[in-house]
Amino acid sequence: MRLLIVEDERDLNYALTKALRKEGYATDSAYDGEEALDLLKINDYDLVLLDLNLPKVDGLDVLRRLREEDMKTRVIILSARSEVDDRVVGLNLGANDYVIKPFDFKELEARIRTSLRMNYTSIPTKLVHGDITLDTNTKEVSVKGEVIDLTSKEFGLLEYLMVHKDRLISNYELFTHVWDGYVDDYTYTDTLKYHIHTLKKKLAKNTGVEYIINKRNQGYRLRSNDE
Ligand code: CA
Repeated sequence: MRLLIVEDERDLNYALTKALRKEGYATDSAYDGEEALDLLKINDYDLVLLDLNLPKVDGLDVLRRLREEDMKTRVIILSARSEVDDRVVGLNLGANDYVIKPFDFKELEARIRTSLRMNYTSIPTKLVHGDITLDTNTKEVSVKGEVIDLTSKEFGLLEYLMVHKDRLISNYELFTHVWDGYVDDYTYTDTLKYHIHTLKKKLAKNTGVEYIINKRNQGYRLRSNDE
């Protein structure tokens, strides 16, 4: 899942980036409202952490402009205790949740998980597909009850494929939801291919089934249980 962190306090932005990446999220950072709007135009985020008091363009304006075009991306407001009125305006403008600074990282991460689950009409804590179980809380993947060792990218790929298991996912979509930064058209397919390959191998080794199906030049999907 890919997150945008909009926060002008550099230390906080950096600390969030570090902690969220450790939890397996792909993250980008914006340090003012203008940069946030630019990144929102270019990339498709699953969730935005949005500080309200920002240079250049205010957080509420960022939210307003985002919601004019997109109701799907989840937004969690990061607000100071004194910004009660802004928080209410923010929720009315379509923010999904808010946390008050200073916050406990574990609580923020729990709110992020809840918001992301709501985004996909109800991602259960445990995703199950065939013999594979993926736990979004513990970040563990198991096959027939046995935990298998995946890298954070492999986990991210499998999670995205399991959440969207009913359709084919394009290379581009899959890549942009698991990796951060700008997408370089010339190299991303190789990176994606490599990590899909290692994930595929691990799943096949543990399940005896080729779970990931590749449609040449189109994308990937999970093999359905009756195939
Ligand atoms: Ca601020």
